[in-house]
Amino acid sequence: MRKQWQQVGNPSSLHGAGRQARRVVEESREQIADCVGAKPADIIFTSGGTEADNLALKGIARNSGRRRILVSAVEHHAILDPAEALREEGWVIDHVPVDGLGRVVPERLAEMLDDDVAVVAVMWANNEVGTIQPIPEIATLCRRRGIPFHTDAVQALGHVALDVADIPSVALSAHKVGGPVGVGALVLDRDLGIRPLVHGGGQERDVRSGTLDAAGIAGFAAALAAPEVDTAGLRDALIEGVIAAVPDAVVNGDPRHRLNNNAHFSFPGCPGDALLMLLDAAGIAVSTGSACTAGIPRPSHVLIAMGADESVARSSLRFSLGWNSTRRDVEALIGALPAAVARARRAGGAA
Ligand code: PLP
Repeated sequence: MRKQWQQVGNPSSLHGAGRQARRVVEESREQIADCVGAKPADIIFTSGGTEADNLALKGIARNSGRRRILVSAVEHHAILDPAEALREEGWVIDHVPVDGLGRVVPERLAEMLDDDVAVVAVMWANNEVGTIQPIPEIATLCRRRGIPFHTDAVQALGHVALDVADIPSVALSAHKVGGPVGVGALVLDRDLGIRPLVHGGGQERDVRSGTLDAAGIAGFAAALAAPEVDTAGLRDALIEGVIAAVPDAVVNGDPRHRLNNNAHFSFPGCPGDALLMLLDAAGIAVSTGSACTAGIPRPSHVLIAMGADESVARSSLRFSLGWNSTRRDVEALIGALPAAVARARRAGGAA
């Protein structure tokens, strides 16, 4: 990235500096495509996962001539909110339910499909509880019915072995794999019709306009090329340690199909916001839900969709691990947790 920042070329320019930047973009495109089993020509660079999700949902729906859109009830707001915007334009939006572990049941989805469905969106892995969805099965189901399928793979990238060859539309983001913020991609089957969201120079196949960020794109490819770090062992140690430290804590999400960098708990009677602040004071950064919705005092729509009541949803926290997390980090959390939980419970009025 540093090398590319020192170059002035615009990848769309024909002079030498432009061609140099174009080379960086195209090599990065090939590397990113290779990591997820896609064709390089299917990659459309965007400003991140949010733009990729918006482009897919709005672009596919507006091109379809159909009027229904199905999105899972546990989607990120990057899907839920464009769906609501489309509802205002006249589309019928239906939420696909999940079970108590946060999984879409393919048979239930199959019952909801009909010939008026413009697009189905189910995320590959959930950003709050870490549940991984049966995406190949859902993609096959939609393909057999001739319905375009989009998956938000922002959280799955780098943690699940992704093969997107048979999936028409997939959203990716660089910063979830240690790359720069503000770069992402929509992997879009060239045969799938779509309306652009952003009009202009038509840089990305006429589907997405705007000068490409060659340095950011190079950073995205470099992050994906870094050796994978398997955090599953650390995650299991974290779950075990948290339960030992706070025996009435409840683990949320699917115990088998879950992200290797995510652990999500409810602490009965303990306000999640207070616990977050107390842990933060101890140098431990956690989240009460999606970081993108933090600050909005609403219980998590993900936990509510999984059948949790509001008090459980408000007493829940997500712990995420990164490529640089260590056993000492986990030990620090487990050491700080009992006192923080006791104090947060007192603040919340519990015994
Ligand atoms: N989708 C999911 C599942 C996410 O977790 C996020 C970000 O946290 C996004 C989409 C948005 O991606 P970006 O931050 O690149 O816009």
